[in-house]
Amino acid sequence: MKTLLCMTSCLLWLSLGAQASEPAKFAIAIHGGAGTIEKSKMTPEKEAAYRAKLEEALNAGYLVLEKGGASLDAVVAAINVMENSPLFNAGKGAVYTYEGAHELDASIMDGRDRQAGAVAGVKRVANPINLARMVMEDSPFVMLAGEGAEAFARSRNVPMVDNKSFDTEQRRQQLERAKEKLDKENRQDKDYRAAVENLPIPFRVGTVGAVALDKQGNLAAGTSTGGMTAKRYGRIGDAPVIGAGTFADNRSCAVSATGHGEFFIRYNVAADICTRVDYQGKSVAQAADEVINQVLLPVGGTGGVIVLDAKGNIALTFNTKGMYRGRRVAGEPAEVAIFGADQAAPAAP
Ligand code: ASP
Repeated sequence: MKTLLCMTSCLLWLSLGAQASEPAKFAIAIHGGAGTIEKSKMTPEKEAAYRAKLEEALNAGYLVLEKGGASLDAVVAAINVMENSPLFNAGKGAVYTYEGAHELDASIMDGRDRQAGAVAGVKRVANPINLARMVMEDSPFVMLAGEGAEAFARSRNVPMVDNKSFDTEQRRQQLERAKEKLDKENRQDKDYRAAVENLPIPFRVGTVGAVALDKQGNLAAGTSTGGMTAKRYGRIGDAPVIGAGTFADNRSCAVSATGHGEFFIRYNVAADICTRVDYQGKSVAQAADEVINQVLLPVGGTGGVIVLDAKGNIALTFNTKGMYRGRRVAGEPAEVAIFGADQAAPAAP
């Protein structure tokens, strides 16, 4: 009897010990936009530059998590690397509006308590994701737009930058091509909406986003973008809309989206994915596949999402030819990928 008791308690002790020493799970995933991204149309140099920058962003976020930092900090660290790179449509490298300026949108969400912050149409803030976080943490509001958002930024001593500092030659050429196409199609069919909707996907690709799970078990998500080339009339996409382009709740999942923003708003994409995880017990992969491929695709909505749950499960799902993306789970190497068939290719050593 004594032996039996000892065996039971020893086993219990062993299993508790094993649990206690099990390293905390943490993970991060990022995207740099989804669209018509094809290997045949990309030079090896350009591909290498994208892979290197994705890896840098991924590792910036991973490092925060590895040191025990918060998922919110990891999301901001990863997004800042991409906002500061001319390769992506966010911060430096943002697309141009019809009038030839840049209007930036961003949002962030905390999975612990669904706190959220967003900015839309800001023109003079170098890292809109940081301002979105300030709105969440240091204002009674969720979303601030345009000049008001910038007045808030100034009141918090955020340095203002010249809108031209976001300029890149590649995006300027895209604007010229987009305007030519819009003006031509407009003259023919007088249908501005159709002309805008017919613009090829490359005219907006490059939005950036991150989702992270920290050692404390908290999820966070963030997204930052310049929106769509040649956008007008103060157009705002899905990136700053909580539930459309960004969502996080520890009970279900964290999502950052990229794609044709009007569809992502109308179909409430990020929240729909997490609702399926929460209410229907779906895996993140299944929920993302349903919304991206079975809900959006049939109605013409193109794009993709990165999704992460509190157990560290990740889905990188898109219905376009490619999506700049990366993932890194605790103790595993970073993986980055760009093209459709390019699943989970290891990052360069
Ligand atoms: N979702 C962004 C927007 O519509 C663009 C993109 O992600 O490609 O503003």
